Amino acid sequence: MLNLEYKNGEQYIEGLSISQLADRHETPFYCYSATKVQTQFRMFKDAFSNLDALVCYAVKVNSNQAILTLLADEGAGADVVSIGEIKRALAANIPANKIVFSGVAKTKEEMVFALQQNILCFNVESKPELDQLASVAFQLKITANISFRINPNVDANTHKKISTGKKGDKFGVDIDQAVSLYQYAQSLSFINIVGIDMHIGSQISDMNAFDLAIVKIKKLYEQLNLLNIKIQHIDFGGGLAVQYQRNDKTESDLLIEYARVINKHAIDLDCKIIFEPGRFIMGNAGVLVTKVIVKKYQHNKVFLIVDAGMNDLIRPTLYDAYHVISPANYSNEMESVDVVGPVCETGDYLAQDRTMQKVEQGELIIIHSTGAYCAVTSNSYNSRPIIKEVLVKNNCDYVIRKEQTVESLIALDCVPVFLNYLKYDSET
Ligand SMILES: *Cc1c(COP(=O)(O)O)cnc(C)c1O
Repeated sequence: MLNLEYKNGEQYIEGLSISQLADRHETPFYCYSATKVQTQFRMFKDAFSNLDALVCYAVKVNSNQAILTLLADEGAGADVVSIGEIKRALAANIPANKIVFSGVAKTKEEMVFALQQNILCFNVESKPELDQLASVAFQLKITANISFRINPNVDANTHKKISTGKKGDKFGVDIDQAVSLYQYAQSLSFINIVGIDMHIGSQISDMNAFDLAIVKIKKLYEQLNLLNIKIQHIDFGGGLAVQYQRNDKTESDLLIEYARVINKHAIDLDCKIIFEPGRFIMGNAGVLVTKVIVKKYQHNKVFLIVDAGMNDLIRPTLYDAYHVISPANYSNEMESVDVVGPVCETGDYLAQDRTMQKVEQGELIIIHSTGAYCAVTSNSYNSRPIIKEVLVKNNCDYVIRKEQTVESLIALDCVPVFLNYLKYDSET
């Protein structure tokens, strides 16, 4: 949450203070606000209430079953990128006819499963993938509904690791080849063309990028219309930014601008619209709560070494991401610090040269805006078990993912018999 208001000197998530939460759950843990998730989803959906639109939440962003169930209750569909995510969506009661399947290389096994479930649409990303899908569909005698994910070759003006709609990115089919691919697809049995799809990247605040891409997609839509290739929906993907810093645009402003672009173009379209927002729904619905284990002064620097590391939150290391950090308890002194984790990597930092409220050893700090792409990208490097996730609704907190245990990690490994491994036994 980018909510830096303190009540009586303390930060809250809904009705619970961070210190109350940390009394009940050992740090580090992710904590989400159920109300914020709902608010974001409703705000997005309402912005397009004038259109025949389906909002398919991008499951990869935060795939916790509780979050998915919360969104299913709001009427969300799902954008999935693996069989695992299809199973998660179905398990959360998101109906198959609201599931779109994205991803650059779907396996045969994934195609079979998705076809048997009768999902809304496969977003196909290449001709070889189409051929594979056609062959699987033919064998099963189940028709596959497809869109092509078009790479419109626009610069999304975002971090290069999350740009996906530019020539040279691995995603989608080249817009110049789109018409001939659609014609080819039309000639295949058990392939049913239903839509056009795009997704140009993530954390996009430059509406011009969306605008340019949509202009190209619309032109394709018109070309296909002339060829009598009927398009039932256009999927504009996800990618809308959230506010990570105080000076960033707010989410409501971003949404207003985005809706203006979409609505301007949608008037000319005689089809349904699909959206695949992810970050926008979850980014500011969660925080990471962590504790300062050691405060270390070295080479004119102050290091806050906290109990969460790059294995728990990799965005700063991977994307140079900026997350606001604040103490759970307000301090009116400021200090310039590096906030780092305990992992044995120099890249293990959460913030560098950050001027923030002064914090002492043992205190709780909050890493803001960590609801999207954070828990899901964590790992157990340094044999650090994946941490707990907690959901708060009003005055109640619920564990929605248990922390892993070291024992369960060890148990996954198998030592071959030739090593004469004698199991360590504390009894002997
Ligand atoms: C990741 C992804 C999304 C979600 O992107 P956000 O930036 O989180 O909104 C949507 N569609 C596809 C195909 C994706 O890969």
